[in-house]
Amino acid sequence: MSSSDERQDIDKIRSEIDKVDSEILRLLAERKSHALRIARAKGEFDRPSRDQTREEDLIADRIAAAAQHDLDSELIIKLWRTIVNDSVRIQQEALGRAEEPNGGITVAIQGIEGSYSHIAAEQFFGTKGIETAYVRAKAFSDAIDEVTEGRAEVAVLPIENTTSGAISEVYDLLLESDLSVVGDLKLRVRHCLLGIHGTTPADIRKVYCHPQAVAQCSDFLASLEDCEIVHFSDTALSGKRIKDLNDPSIAAIASEEAARLYGLEVIKTGIANRAENYTRFVVVAREPVEVPEGVPSKTSAVMAVGNRPGALMDALSIFREGDINLVKLESRPIPHNPKEELFYIDFEGNVADHEVADLLDALTRQVRFLKVLGSYPSRDLRPRPDADTRKPIEPSGREKLVSPVVSGQSPQGYRLGSRGHKPANTIVEVGEARFGSDELVLIGGPCAVESWDQVIASARAVRDSGGTVLRGGCFKPRTSPYSFQGLGFEGLDMLSEAGKTFGLPIVTEVLSPEDVEEVAKKADILQIGTRNMQNFSLLSAVGRTHRPVLLKRGMSSSLDELLQAAEYILHEGNQQVMLCERGIRTFETSTRNTLDLSAVPVLRGRTHLPVVVDPSHAAGNRDLVAPLALAAEAIGAHGIMVEIHPKPEEALSDGPQSLTLEQFDELARALGVPRRQL
Ligand code: PEP
Ligand code: MN
Repeated sequence: MSSSDERQDIDKIRSEIDKVDSEILRLLAERKSHALRIARAKGEFDRPSRDQTREEDLIADRIAAAAQHDLDSELIIKLWRTIVNDSVRIQQEALGRAEEPNGGITVAIQGIEGSYSHIAAEQFFGTKGIETAYVRAKAFSDAIDEVTEGRAEVAVLPIENTTSGAISEVYDLLLESDLSVVGDLKLRVRHCLLGIHGTTPADIRKVYCHPQAVAQCSDFLASLEDCEIVHFSDTALSGKRIKDLNDPSIAAIASEEAARLYGLEVIKTGIANRAENYTRFVVVAREPVEVPEGVPSKTSAVMAVGNRPGALMDALSIFREGDINLVKLESRPIPHNPKEELFYIDFEGNVADHEVADLLDALTRQVRFLKVLGSYPSRDLRPRPDADTRKPIEPSGREKLVSPVVSGQSPQGYRLGSRGHKPANTIVEVGEARFGSDELVLIGGPCAVESWDQVIASARAVRDSGGTVLRGGCFKPRTSPYSFQGLGFEGLDMLSEAGKTFGLPIVTEVLSPEDVEEVAKKADILQIGTRNMQNFSLLSAVGRTHRPVLLKRGMSSSLDELLQAAEYILHEGNQQVMLCERGIRTFETSTRNTLDLSAVPVLRGRTHLPVVVDPSHAAGNRDLVAPLALAAEAIGAHGIMVEIHPKPEEALSDGPQSLTLEQFDELARALGVPRRQL
């Protein structure tokens, strides 16, 4: 092809492009005329000119349609935001209204204007045409409180940096708070050395800067001679401070934006160790956002997988099976639980997608704890395959007999706890005990912790007889306020020491949501007593911990109510829940309660959660404990919990139903529990 042919070809193509562009202009004009017609209609019906849901839906539709033409979603988002904003402006002018563009939003940030959080928030909301007002917070936790307590609608918080890594404090705060992640943003951070007018690098003796900036600019800072680094909570504030001090020997590390805002000079740019220095910010709000279908999105969650070989691998393989792209995995220690780690994960997709819902279902079947922090729009679009179908595991032998699937039973107000959700038994492992497995777990200990001697003697007896968990009440839920109320945290210290001495994990009852955090520091299993089975704030509080929960059946509650109470715990994230039948109220007065043994096979049919039986509180009389315990074992209980006392006649509570240490040993033999190898 000659060069004049080529020229002609290019000219021809260009004229085609001109035609397309003039068509685009004609269409934009046509769109504008429709916008004006809508304005008239809105004016007549007195409707607001901005309908955010419709705007988001519209953009989502355009992204989906554009994907069929292989057009980039980012381009479509930008283009249609501009078009939609222009339409709104046209309508507002036509109606003579001066509504704030998109209503405006109050944003809590750690730091002041000019900080990177501020720049991130400006970018995040600015591109959406949303006006911002700021609430300044001293610490990240204060920024979260501003939102939780309603003084700000959202908070923008840094979560990780490409050079200095995860900002662990923010991760931990996200897990503790009730806020949802509603967006994220990657900001290119350009640290600059700032000084007052006329400062030269040779003048500098002190640099004020944020610890994160110290980490990200460590090479540059190490190159400064005779220079002191002073830590500051906020980059922009350090700039403001040096302006106020007006001293050329003091510099700060902050953004160019901060230099502009506070009238400082940029002495040097590009001082970070890596030229490409990005910080990712998350936007959090009180309510989760609904991501319209078709909009590319991401989900953030936290999980604990348990401490056994392959546990993390098993959880991750669920992502591979669902073909869901895991884009982030960050581990964090769990306070007071050194054997386990928490994993923060980000993956593509949103909770409203059925593929993601299936993935979360599969994960809850596998992990010990799972909390979704939120789904939010993200930039990358990827087509998703259809979800696979998982076959339930068919039980056989004794397993099939003790967990019968009763036909016609569909879950009543619970899902996560149902067999339909998870066909295989949940195994809760605590020390040597494996609740939910074929090995019967024997729990023994006093009704209440009363003294060192009493709890040590009981713990020794439990260990010697083959029990694998030590029980003991420290906070006692007594029917009468005049009865012994327990030794409280002092008792918990004793129980914990006794457990450690004899290598036994401990279970104790927690009575109020305020105590949960403190009790969970020492107790290996948190017990919810019969009187608290429907204390929903308590159930939610234990659901947020990483300790297994032994949930006792309310003395007047149905099994469906028990399963719904368990659902409160599961729903909060904690998947390690065990149910306990402890006797119910009937017209029969020969026993303290009536042990509902049929609860065991009924529960085992309906739920994958382990089932424990407490014959002591059911009987109220030590002579009945052994026969009821043997019956419970025969009918398929995964665990048996029995009260014991070195001197039952001197017990401060429930003496008549407590076994002597010798009787406990006899029972353990009759149950076939192996003695422990000492
Ligand atoms: C207990 O096990 O200590 C107890 C108080 O039991 P319940 O809640 O079943 O009465
Ligand atoms: Mn008791």
